[in-house]
Amino acid sequence: MLFKDLGLTAELLSAVEKQGYEEATPIQQQAIPLVLEGKDVLAGAQTGTGKTAGFTLPVLQRLQLANKEGQKRHPRVLVLTPTRELAAQVHESVRDYGRYLPFRSAVIFGGVSINPQKQKLVKGVDIVVATPGRLLDHVQQRSIDLSRVEILILDEADRMLDMGFIRDIRKILAIIPKQRQTLLFSATFSKEIKSLAAEFLHQPVEIQATPQNTATELVSQIVYPVDKQRKRELLSHKIGEENWQQVLVFTRTKHVANKLAEQLGTDGITSAAIHGNKSQGARTKALADFKAGRVRVLVATDIAARGIDIDKLPHVVNFELPNVAEDYVHRIGRTARAGQAGHAISLVCVDEIKLLRDIEKLLGSDIEKVNVPGYDVNPLIKAEPIQNGRNGRNNAGNGGNRNSNGRGRQRASAGGGRPGAGNRSGGARAHSGGGNRRAS
Ligand code: AMP
Repeated sequence: MLFKDLGLTAELLSAVEKQGYEEATPIQQQAIPLVLEGKDVLAGAQTGTGKTAGFTLPVLQRLQLANKEGQKRHPRVLVLTPTRELAAQVHESVRDYGRYLPFRSAVIFGGVSINPQKQKLVKGVDIVVATPGRLLDHVQQRSIDLSRVEILILDEADRMLDMGFIRDIRKILAIIPKQRQTLLFSATFSKEIKSLAAEFLHQPVEIQATPQNTATELVSQIVYPVDKQRKRELLSHKIGEENWQQVLVFTRTKHVANKLAEQLGTDGITSAAIHGNKSQGARTKALADFKAGRVRVLVATDIAARGIDIDKLPHVVNFELPNVAEDYVHRIGRTARAGQAGHAISLVCVDEIKLLRDIEKLLGSDIEKVNVPGYDVNPLIKAEPIQNGRNGRNNAGNGGNRNSNGRGRQRASAGGGRPGAGNRSGGARAHSGGGNRRAS
């Protein structure tokens, strides 16, 4: 369905056209008419589905059609997001889609000075995009008046709950008018999300962008069994051998993220780490460098990476599997954006087999396992074909075959998509150095 068939105003259609979009994504097709009608919406959609435009466009239209020109500006739309990065990105979308409309917006998050935000708010804004904590600071300091909010959007609500924002959200909900339109976007629908929706949404219409908890089909997923101590080496090797240029790597902890970024740097691969301990300035810079291609690998923890929006991110690597299976789906959702194919690669050691099983249970299918010749294969993963035998086939082809170009290598090359990548053989350490030099 085209945007022009969705009943949007000329100003919004021009802005969409300026972004280069013609066809609406499934979540946009479902959400836009409902929001325009004034309905409360409970939407199952993760980053990459086009959800931001799905709520931003119709919300702007509602403001436009009930324009209160001449009156003093006050926040009429409030978007709550879990992270600063997501807040900044949603705000950017508000500006992009609202470029031909007279509304003013502000983005509010912690980790930066509060004063410029106050100055912006004093001048009057129509739309506020905020993380909950800093928003409440403004409420406390009376630099924001939320008493006339007409539309509330909870973006990535599941993540807000995971991050412990429920009390802050409740406080904010207690301040804003009960008479309002509420939109709740969440990648997953836990019991907590359902009860939040039951409490704060009014007869919501439920919509789904992708089947719940299902990894998008465009993402090719692969597991490389590897010893824990050799993960970094294998990662450098793969990056070099298959010439991956833009790689988002997930770790479980800030410590591992820092260490890995440092080590990749010594391997000649430009890297940066982002996590909660980094200053806002450092995070913004790392993300900008990564987007611009100045940094090849971005190492991130789950929370820091949440909401990162990078067009056509080709490779996502799970350096460590997440503790919570749902996070795997969030992570790999960073790739295969807007119809592009993407590759999700997991480096799995023996300690992580239980986590891997949990993920496969959630996905409802096994992830292909491929042994990389030259790397010590985790015997447990090798020995145990999981469920339907697809993995057994690969393992049978490659088991213990350290120096040959086995099927594992070819499969991995096909996944990496670079001709000739599978033709090298020999020691992994040699690969690592040569590959990096060649590719950097
Ligand atoms: P989101 O899920 O909102 O984070 O959006 C994911 C990415 O898809 C963003 O980079 C958007 O700019 C892009 N996008 C949003 N809507 C469309 C569309 N209709 N066609 C193509 N790309 C889109």
